[in-house]
Amino acid sequence: MLNIVKRPSQRTYDYIIIGSGSAGSVLAARLSEDSSKSVLLVEAGPSDRNTFIQMPAGLGIPLMKDRYNWKFFSEEATSSASEKEIYTPRGKVLGGSSSINGMNWVRGNSADYDDWAQSGLTNWSYAHCLPYFKRSENYAQGDPAYRGIGGPTNIVKGEATNPLFKLFLDAACDYGLALNPDHNGETQIGAHTTQRNVSKGTRHSASQAYLYDQPAKAHLDVLLETRCTSIEFSGQDAARVHLIRRGKVFTVDVGSELILSAGAIQTPQLLMLSGIGDSDVLRACDIDVKQHMPGVGSNLQDHPAWCFEYGATDPRDSLASKLGYLGRLKIGVEWLFRKQGLGISNHFEVGAFLSLLGKGMGVDAQMECIAMRGNFAPQGIKIEPGYQCFTSLQRPTSRGKLCITSADPALGPKFQFNYLTTDHDKKLAIAAIKATQQIFQQSAWQGRLSSELSGVDNLKSDSDIIKWALANVESNYHPCGTCSMGVDDKAVTDAQGRAHGFNNLRIVDASIIPSIPAGNLNAITIMIAEKIADSILGVSAIEPEYPSIN
Ligand SMILES: Cc1cc2nc3c(=O)[nH]c(=O)nc-3n(C[C@H](O)[C@H](O)[C@H](O)COP(=O)(O)OP(=O)(O)OC[C@H]3O[C@@H](n4cnc5c(N)ncnc54)[C@H](O)[C@@H]3O)c2cc1C
Repeated sequence: MLNIVKRPSQRTYDYIIIGSGSAGSVLAARLSEDSSKSVLLVEAGPSDRNTFIQMPAGLGIPLMKDRYNWKFFSEEATSSASEKEIYTPRGKVLGGSSSINGMNWVRGNSADYDDWAQSGLTNWSYAHCLPYFKRSENYAQGDPAYRGIGGPTNIVKGEATNPLFKLFLDAACDYGLALNPDHNGETQIGAHTTQRNVSKGTRHSASQAYLYDQPAKAHLDVLLETRCTSIEFSGQDAARVHLIRRGKVFTVDVGSELILSAGAIQTPQLLMLSGIGDSDVLRACDIDVKQHMPGVGSNLQDHPAWCFEYGATDPRDSLASKLGYLGRLKIGVEWLFRKQGLGISNHFEVGAFLSLLGKGMGVDAQMECIAMRGNFAPQGIKIEPGYQCFTSLQRPTSRGKLCITSADPALGPKFQFNYLTTDHDKKLAIAAIKATQQIFQQSAWQGRLSSELSGVDNLKSDSDIIKWALANVESNYHPCGTCSMGVDDKAVTDAQGRAHGFNNLRIVDASIIPSIPAGNLNAITIMIAEKIADSILGVSAIEPEYPSIN
């Protein structure tokens, strides 16, 4: 049983972790393996015990709810006039974004981590990260040189039984991609059936895998619906955290270390509220400057994405035909009583990784497909027959930024992604959009797709494509980099997540990612937390592993 408390059971905890998302849940589990240490996990959101969070196919429902989703929006970017406000959902619940995400299990490309090592973070090469990816997962179908067996997060391969999925794989192969049996193994490039973090038909979020499914620990307290509003320092030590729960404010003292895992949007916000950030920004908000750190909130990165929609000639081909009232009832009953049927699917069952700008550039585009047209907008879900492909840019070079506008913790920070502000990203967007068109024009589709509905097929020139791209760009929901690890002036932490200039303050979440990898960020953030947990506990890092890589 998880020790969910209404108030802290002690005045001081050895480790206090702010945020229970992909990183925070891992840290709470790993740090509390040392029974001599007390751990407090503080989460602003409520419990994750909700049927639609647990049921993979229910993923759109918690996403709609203010109770579970912070529903941030970026500001319109000034540098690329057409970039609109970008919807940026974030989990506000035990398990954080891992409790509301798409469950697509992707570990990125080996070259991404070798680039981190090249930039001076020598202990973050692929060889150093691989043992921690393996420690985090349980995937018995893979090659054990690359894949973990017996780790907390259970991974299964989708069945991709919908006929349109099979046609996508055929079309991708006719376009020139190879069919890849494991995109988290030796090679990432190719078309694939997706892997998802699901166990016994249930979402295997970080909280489920690392907190509920592990032996109970009496010295780990979990404080839900409690927000950290600032950090109080004594010299260069984080001394205590200021918390608010249901209107009641209180503090808890830091015994050994304070770890911020509030995610890429709110970790930098919390640092700024506590006086750490760009001094001009802090003074404008009447916040005393504890440490001028202009890197906080800079280096915001994301995977810009476009949704391509196609009609289905025979609507019975599309998953939408199974999601009428009776269909949903059948799926619900089958899932509830047998943990079988469509309820165990995250719907994204096939995809592809591509390298478009040539050798040496690594994987630079991803496709994720769903056998219907589904709009999971904050206002509500809209489902229609057809087929949908999300194409996103990997390893983009555009950088955004984030800052606070007020000392009030209840007001979200403002941020801009600045998508497609580099020539590289514009070139890549054109290549990715053309590659998507080409895959959907292959004869392998056998006329089963009726029409292209996103308007891309009417675009005549590259400049038309860029205009369309800026008008239609969306987030693939992977903000990161706002408190980057590194060795340069803009770095906020060192290679162990220790905030520069402080003795006992760590940052461990997607905000410390120095450059965005080619892949969705849940598995990657979990790996980061697994690795830094060893550093916090003072145990030797697992020896690097060097299997061959393609
Ligand atoms: C809708 C959606 C779909 C996605 N799909 C996928 C996918 O299919 N595959 C994949 O790999 N990745 C996916 N991602 C991305 C991935 O889930 C995130 O990148 C990852 O979970 C980030 O982990 P984190 O620990 O940095 O932050 P989060 O998991 O976001 O955790 C931060 C936690 O901190 C809490 N918090 C914030 N501020 C405070 C405060 N002041 N006090 C207390 N608590 C606070 C938040 O409530 C939250 O629970 C998706 C994300 C979203 C939102």
